[in-house]
Amino acid sequence: MKIMSINAGSSSLKFSLFEMDTKTCIASGYFERVTMEGSFYTIKYQGEKIREEVDMPNHMIAVEILLDRLGSLDIIQSLDEIEGVGHRLAHGSSKYKSSALITDELMEDFKSYTELAPLHIPANILGIEAIRKALPDVAMVGVFDTSFHQTLDVTKYIYPVPYEWYKKYGIRKYGFHGTSYRYICEQIPRLLGKDEYKAIICHLGSGASIAAVKNGKCIDTSMGFTPVVGVMMGTRSGDIDPSILPFIMKKEDKTIEEVMDDLNKKSGFLGLSECSNDFRDIYKGVQEGSEQCQLAFDKFVQTVVNYIATYYVELDGADVICFTAGLGENASEARCAIMEKLSCLGVRLDQKANEVRGEEIKISSDDSSILCFVVPTNEELMIAEDTLSLIGE
Ligand code: ADP
Repeated sequence: MKIMSINAGSSSLKFSLFEMDTKTCIASGYFERVTMEGSFYTIKYQGEKIREEVDMPNHMIAVEILLDRLGSLDIIQSLDEIEGVGHRLAHGSSKYKSSALITDELMEDFKSYTELAPLHIPANILGIEAIRKALPDVAMVGVFDTSFHQTLDVTKYIYPVPYEWYKKYGIRKYGFHGTSYRYICEQIPRLLGKDEYKAIICHLGSGASIAAVKNGKCIDTSMGFTPVVGVMMGTRSGDIDPSILPFIMKKEDKTIEEVMDDLNKKSGFLGLSECSNDFRDIYKGVQEGSEQCQLAFDKFVQTVVNYIATYYVELDGADVICFTAGLGENASEARCAIMEKLSCLGVRLDQKANEVRGEEIKISSDDSSILCFVVPTNEELMIAEDTLSLIGE
């Protein structure tokens, strides 16, 4: 049985096609610059990467091209082979505590959440509508980034602001990257050889967050009402004092939207280094002696360490720390710096194991008080698995 997972962004569309009998990804691809000039796609299939520049003025056309190429590249013989499509959805508010079949009711709810994720939700909707048009009979499932964090206790999700804001507008911590956390949580019992555990999971990609998890249940997470807070990220600031906003608005004669844009797109690694949002460039800068790249590196490490320390206390100890996503899986230098700062908790690094990039491996030494692992995430497979289980019901 074949299931497709879709992640639609404002100008992009990622897909993965899985054979669920074997849980293998048959083909995957990335359609970029959709709605813009110079649009192109890449499709990976049977070890090859196919790239084509093709005009994609909107998401409907991107999906039409995707489905056409699945046939012309002989990846599938007929569209009927695709029995379900799972969509990564940016926000499920407080209502969606798990993935759900995409129905008219879900679509209405989802549209009403647009204010909560104004950049992502309209793009997700375009993705759903494009698939619905091209494959009108296929069952579709929505997999929410926020669902995993719905188990948070009120003391963790409430902000100490006028309570009315929560009651009237749903101002609370929602948390993100939930699909990735769920995937990692499915791996942890196998890694530890037991079902009961306390874990601190560091999802460190361009967007980065950390979660404290007990026996698969989320206890706390670093992102909040939106994904701009928590640890420092590629272009997002992470936690800052909100009074900086009106101060900069006055000084720079900027609107609130412009300052928020600075916090979302011009801060983090990019903001501090003034050269790049990509960790690889930052680390190259560190090696070449750039003081600002060193500052960006050190600040990132510090914010991650602070959250790990907080969650260690919140969980009353930890059995395991997992590193995942692009930076977490690959940036051995960042992992090393983070783990060294945790030595007061008894964390010890296995230098040799830590040199491995992008593979599941234990990176703590045998005398470490907390097991530390690199665990590659697979959000796409998680989406496909949710889709399979919901369309089978
Ligand atoms: P997202 O999915 O949020 O866009 P990713 O999970 O792809 O982000 O992570 C992107 C981050 O991972 C970037 O900062 C990038 O520099 C870092 N990264 C990717 N590959 C490597 C590598 N080989 N070594 C170090 N960092 C890497």
